[in-house]
Amino acid sequence: MTKILIIYTGGTIGMVNDTDTGTLVPFNFKQIRQNVPELARLNYELEVHSFDPIMDSSNMHPDIWAELAKLIFTRYDEFDGFVILHGSDTMAYTASALSFMLQNLSKPVILTGSQLPIGQIRTDAKENLITALEIAAMKENGKAKVPEVCIYFDSQLFRGNRSIKYNSEKFEAFRSPNYPILAEAGVHLTFFNNYILPQPEKELQVLLNFNSNIGVLKMYPGISQQAVMAITHSPVDAIVLETFGSGNTTTAQWFIDCLEDAIHNGKIVVDISQCQRGSVELGKYETSKQLQRMGVVSGYDMTFEATITKLMYLMAQGHSYTEVVQLMEQSLRGELTV
Ligand code: ASP
Repeated sequence: MTKILIIYTGGTIGMVNDTDTGTLVPFNFKQIRQNVPELARLNYELEVHSFDPIMDSSNMHPDIWAELAKLIFTRYDEFDGFVILHGSDTMAYTASALSFMLQNLSKPVILTGSQLPIGQIRTDAKENLITALEIAAMKENGKAKVPEVCIYFDSQLFRGNRSIKYNSEKFEAFRSPNYPILAEAGVHLTFFNNYILPQPEKELQVLLNFNSNIGVLKMYPGISQQAVMAITHSPVDAIVLETFGSGNTTTAQWFIDCLEDAIHNGKIVVDISQCQRGSVELGKYETSKQLQRMGVVSGYDMTFEATITKLMYLMAQGHSYTEVVQLMEQSLRGELTV
């Protein structure tokens, strides 16, 4: 019988209203089970691992990503797939981080959650949970159909490290702006095989360390030198530079000097665009030519979530500066298009 491990970390899916304050607080898995009697009708053997404490995903932390990856790694051979119940707020970060931590993944790791708690009549939780389980169980020629870390939400399956939380009010909470969806759930569950990663040839490897000492510098017209220097001259190890259009910034000399100083001082500077769609193209305009010359790294079409978790991951693996730069510009788990 197909065996799936459900890992419950928290999120709206399992929340209930606090009777005193009326705010939504995480609650235990028992009530999820009570609200989804269909789980007993699925022909899978389900085991549940609840995190302690269960949480609103805004409290997510790299230590918990490491716990998640360790759990999947240690119980890998016992299960055909893994479903992680997670708050939607930081789901794209966790999915991205897990995709980097779990190298040579041959089984599905599907994150899902919901916009309305499972106990509410109009909840989206049931469909999300049941279909995520079906996807995690799906096989082809004896092998997992989707050997990837994914997010399943509102009838669509996304590559985890390509997804962003896009809407806090609609059931369609996620999008994958620069990569097609991997599957769609309508009357049939339709998989788009060409976009799904192939089965790996090597054994699963897990890497658990992160360096989260990263600064973020978002460009806006009129940004002051003090604001820029607060990041470029701070003790961070890397900077994610959120630029205009295809990777452009002001060409003001003080700004170029600040970035150049940062790079000289050993900081890795990665350029990603404020646009949700499209890619960074360093050198296309005069306004990114200088960045290219000084060694700013292109983040191509990576999401902010993938960029930050990839940096955190790569900077903790003992690589040299040049190796991190090279790996940032390569697709490791399908997170960017060069
Ligand atoms: N604040 C919640 C969380 O991320 C939102 C959700 O689950 O959708 O845990």
